[in-house]
Amino acid sequence: MNKEIVHIMNDISSWLRYQKQLGVEIIPKGPELSAFLDHRVKNKMSLQGLTSTQEYRDEIPAPTDLDGLRKMVENCNRCELHKKRQNIVFGEGPENAKLVLVGEAPGREEDMQGLPFVGPSGELLTDMLNAVNISRKDVFITSVIKCRPPHNRTPGHEEIAACSSFLRHQLRLIDPPLILALGLVAAQTLLKEKAPLKSLRGRFHQLGNARVMPIYHPAYLLRSQGSRQLDLKRVAWQDLQILEKEYAKYR
Ligand code: SF4
Repeated sequence: MNKEIVHIMNDISSWLRYQKQLGVEIIPKGPELSAFLDHRVKNKMSLQGLTSTQEYRDEIPAPTDLDGLRKMVENCNRCELHKKRQNIVFGEGPENAKLVLVGEAPGREEDMQGLPFVGPSGELLTDMLNAVNISRKDVFITSVIKCRPPHNRTPGHEEIAACSSFLRHQLRLIDPPLILALGLVAAQTLLKEKAPLKSLRGRFHQLGNARVMPIYHPAYLLRSQGSRQLDLKRVAWQDLQILEKEYAKYR
C-alpha cells in the first residue's frame, strides 16, 4: 500500500480515537465529512481543524480558527446565562500554546472585563505559574462555561452540556500536549469523571493527544482557611511541580 495512504489512514484512525475520548459517538457522513476527506487526501492537510458534525450539527460550517469560534460564542444563547452576561469570557493566550488552563466559569471581574482569571484568584493563578517558571503569557487560559453564572454559583449540568462543546472545539484548534484542569468542574467535564478532585489530582490523565493534570482551583485555595488551606496549597504545589517537569519538554 502506498506510504501516503497509510499515513492518512493512521491520521484518520487517531483522529477517530480522539473524537471517541471527547465523547463523540456518531459522525454522520454528510457533505462536511466528505469534503474533509477529499481535501485531506488531496492536500495532506492536518486533521486537527475538523469539527465533529454531531456537536455542531446546527452550526455548520464549524469555525476553523479561534476568532471564528469566538464570534460564535459571542452570539450564543444556548443557555439562560446569556441573559445577564456583560461579556462572554472566551479565553486568551497564544493559539499554539503548549499548555491550556481550564477553569470553571467567569466571576464578577471576569464578566466585567471579558477576560479570564482577572480577580484575586487570577492573581494567585499567576503567582502559582510563576512559582514553577511558567509565564502566563505563554499559556492559553479559558473555562468550561463562557458566561457568568449568577452569584458565581456552580454551573448546572445543562449549562455545562450546552457550553462544553465550545471548550472541546477550542482544544481541538489549539491541540495542546498539556492541559491543567483547575477545579472539580473542569476536571470532571474534561475527563468525563464523577470522582472527587482528591482522587483525580496528582497525575496526568490521557485525553486524546493531550494529557490532563487536575489541580485545586485557586478560588478554592483562597476560600479555605487555616491548616486546611496550608494542606491544599502544599498539595497544589506538588501537582505544579509534576506539571513543570512535563512542560519543560515543550519549551
Ligand atoms: S454559557 Fe456558554 S452555552 Fe450558555 S449562553 Fe454562554 S456561551 Fe452560550
